[in-house]
Amino acid sequence: MQLTNKTALITGAASGIGNEIATEFAREGAKVCIADLSLAAGEAAAAKITQAGGTAMAVAMNVTDEAQVEAGFAKMVKAWGGVDVLVSNAGIQIISSLVELKFADWKRLLAVHVDGAFLTTRAAMRAMIAAKRGGSIIYMGSVHSHEASPLKAPYVTAKHGLLGLAKVVAKEGAAAGIRSNVICPGFVRTPLVEKQIPEQAKELHISEADVVRNVMLKETVDGEFTTTQDVAGLAVFLAAFPTNALTGQSIVVSHGWYMQ
Ligand code: NAD
Repeated sequence: MQLTNKTALITGAASGIGNEIATEFAREGAKVCIADLSLAAGEAAAAKITQAGGTAMAVAMNVTDEAQVEAGFAKMVKAWGGVDVLVSNAGIQIISSLVELKFADWKRLLAVHVDGAFLTTRAAMRAMIAAKRGGSIIYMGSVHSHEASPLKAPYVTAKHGLLGLAKVVAKEGAAAGIRSNVICPGFVRTPLVEKQIPEQAKELHISEADVVRNVMLKETVDGEFTTTQDVAGLAVFLAAFPTNALTGQSIVVSHGWYMQ
């Protein structure tokens, strides 16, 4: 058990990668707070963890809404006395060429990924500093924190931006023992990716099988998707890492699609 006595808030944890991280953190002994748009979906995810013997709670949190972020963290701190780990994971995808992209869609994507990361980071850092026991902040970046792809201008911009935020948090948080790192996965078959396979096929005028083979997995070393378990294992490692030696970094988990 690598996370005994730790408390973790994970955004977007009702689905996909965030859900796997919450499940794995609980298996490693952490108390996990599922923060997602729908309270019902968060409570269902928390109930699954509780049924398996873990400790979980849920809060309704739109990460772009300052009041909801503050209220969600306050609820968790009241229940469990602090926040040891934040996983800023909530995200959306919008597939569009730059010239056709609506300004509203650009702003909507950046709000979830960048404003959401800022608001949850600020709340987590305040709680961590007050509790005086340090902490770990983990951002869900992407290979798109390092590489570009067509049709994903706001996503690539946002994911690159998280690298900068993580580096500032590493510097400002160090004195309080707060570490900050970015996980950069390749393609993982979650609802976010399932939705974009037909969208990319339409935009690129190719079949869905070709989107998988020639767009998503073409540059990997073995033609394999990264899994939610791969990402969750790395998140446990970063959450449990005991010192500031590993901070301000990004770690790519992508079957070799991108090599740093
Ligand atoms: P997903 O769609 O399965 O889950 C995303 C979750 O975020 C959902 O539960 C959704 O309700 C929640 N969410 C969306 N907007 C929100 C908001 N404003 N406030 C709170 N919650 C919100 O997607 P996923 O694939 O698990 O993606 C999780 C993260 O991983 C995202 O940041 C994504 O960019 C990143 N990522 C995914 C992949 C991939 O291939 N799936 C690869 C690299 C990075």
